[in-house]
Amino acid sequence: MQFQELNISKSVLLAITEEGYTNPTPIQEKAIPIILDGKDLVGCAQTGTGKTAAFAIPILSLLHPIVAKSQKGKKIKTLIVTPTRELAIQIGDSFNTYGKYINTTQLTIFGGVNQNSQVDGLRKGIDILIATPGRLLDLHKQGFIDLDHVQHLILDEADQMFDMGFINDVKKIIKLVPNDRQTLLFSATMPMAIRELTEQYLTNPETVQV
Ligand code: AMP
Repeated sequence: MQFQELNISKSVLLAITEEGYTNPTPIQEKAIPIILDGKDLVGCAQTGTGKTAAFAIPILSLLHPIVAKSQKGKKIKTLIVTPTRELAIQIGDSFNTYGKYINTTQLTIFGGVNQNSQVDGLRKGIDILIATPGRLLDLHKQGFIDLDHVQHLILDEADQMFDMGFINDVKKIIKLVPNDRQTLLFSATMPMAIRELTEQYLTNPETVQV
């Protein structure tokens, strides 16, 4: 299969073609149509399988027509929660690369650094927020983050977030976003706690395993 056969935005297709991607990886081939359809998804995949592009490509494709219409007063429409600073930065880089021909604005926030430049970024208005759980809740509590317009919630490396003790933070975050959102959960393994999370907070999810 080729990327052209998937119903992704032409601007995203151009960006990934320039990156040298011609064929989707197995997780991408399976997950992209489900995400474009607006369905919830559980993706069982390790890092290295092309998991980031499996959600970044369809999410950017869904955002493209929306951001093309409204350039002013940007609201967070996509929230990605990931366990570590390194993963957050990597995801931010991927969205930058695949979204370079789309007018989406994004911000990556994580703990362990001064919050001022992150707060400045939030004040400017963004479409996509990539965050680690603690800093996200901290800045939300301080009133800097409005999650009322989130349409897509992505929980990346859910098992790692559980192992690192972030499960209650993740549950708090889920409760801060609108109920009628699309939720995608990615995890390399499916321990009971993640299965329960999935049953509690996802709506009729499709499961994709690679
Ligand atoms: P990930 O599993 O998201 O960490 O991605 C692993 C690596 O594969 C990244 O360096 C991506 O740039 C690369 N990659 C993702 N999708 C594709 C693709 N369809 N074709 C070629 N490389 C890809």
